[in-house]
Amino acid sequence: MDSGTILPDGSEYGLKGHAVDRGIRRRVGLAPEAGEIDFDAPYNRIATEEAWTFPELVKAQLDFLDSGDAGDDPALDMAGMFAAQSELQAMLQDIGEQRVAHMDEFGIDRALLLLTAPGVQVVRPGEGTPLARESNDRVADACRKYPDRFSGLAAFDPRDVQGSVAEIERGMTELGLNGAVLNSHFQGHYLDEPEYEPILEALEAHDAALYIHPTAPMNRKPYQERGFFGALGGFPHDVWVHTMGLIFSGAFDKYPGLRLVIGHMGESMPLQLYRFDWMQNNADGIPGLRGGQPAVTLKHPVSYYFFNNIWITTSGEAWEPAIKFCIEQLGPERVLYAMDYPYQQSPDEVAVYDRLAISDERKKMLMQTNAERVFRLPETHGK
Ligand code: MN
Repeated sequence: MDSGTILPDGSEYGLKGHAVDRGIRRRVGLAPEAGEIDFDAPYNRIATEEAWTFPELVKAQLDFLDSGDAGDDPALDMAGMFAAQSELQAMLQDIGEQRVAHMDEFGIDRALLLLTAPGVQVVRPGEGTPLARESNDRVADACRKYPDRFSGLAAFDPRDVQGSVAEIERGMTELGLNGAVLNSHFQGHYLDEPEYEPILEALEAHDAALYIHPTAPMNRKPYQERGFFGALGGFPHDVWVHTMGLIFSGAFDKYPGLRLVIGHMGESMPLQLYRFDWMQNNADGIPGLRGGQPAVTLKHPVSYYFFNNIWITTSGEAWEPAIKFCIEQLGPERVLYAMDYPYQQSPDEVAVYDRLAISDERKKMLMQTNAERVFRLPETHGK
């Protein structure tokens, strides 16, 4: 290890020179101590929220942004912000050798590739589905080229409902992808609105788990003024609305096989299950919610859907007490490891999982076998 990367407290710089546009992240607060990755660990590491993009999409996002025709879409602005970070873009746009080299460096056996936020749902209407097709072709190519290292989720543009249904079907059949990804709201709309129901139907029919990844929130002002656009507020809050909206729309009662995966430790929702159940009657059976839709009374307590239809990943939250809480309360089969490359990456964080004081059986579920089951991945060989 280059001694220049060692901090005075003996810990290591987090990013080892990768994605340095915004400066090296130092270890602060609850960040883990320096740790060595166990390259002989008795499990494979499958990282389940690993971001990528491609030049044509970035160009379409920037063209629409620069045209001034898009109206107020904070998620599109975020695309502009990410596009300006050249190191980050280089990492996002590589789904080949460089990414595999970084996976080797971090001990990641398999990465599940998700088209990064804000995705195809912010481009000029009509361009989203062709770009989703391009995205899905590209990620399927990468998976074919590196079958033991990459798996991928299908992107779709929910504004084009029939195009989304077709792309989910093509992704899950012809292309052999492993689920679908949506970067949360699209111009303030959510999948709980009735016109998007065919998308839910297609997801269930193809047994495609839907990963709802954050994007910048539509009500930007209070967030932007405080610098909370992203993970400090806007991201988790928007996914919370999306997830709770789907639950209270009755989507899981109508489509009991519908499955969601929520990152960043379930965007903190697992900590609130007690209160969700307690407060359920504030939205259950009340007419006029969700844009005037008829009243929906759920078949189950809110927590039921977190125990049956929703899985969470640990992306960006290498924090032992939180991981243990979620494993204990949601069940060991419901929590999946994720890194959040290239936005967040640290060998010390990988080492946190190696050190985690849980049984070997549960650790293998967390790091490997839960992901294999939820995303119907090919079995990993060797361990
Ligand atoms: Mn993420």
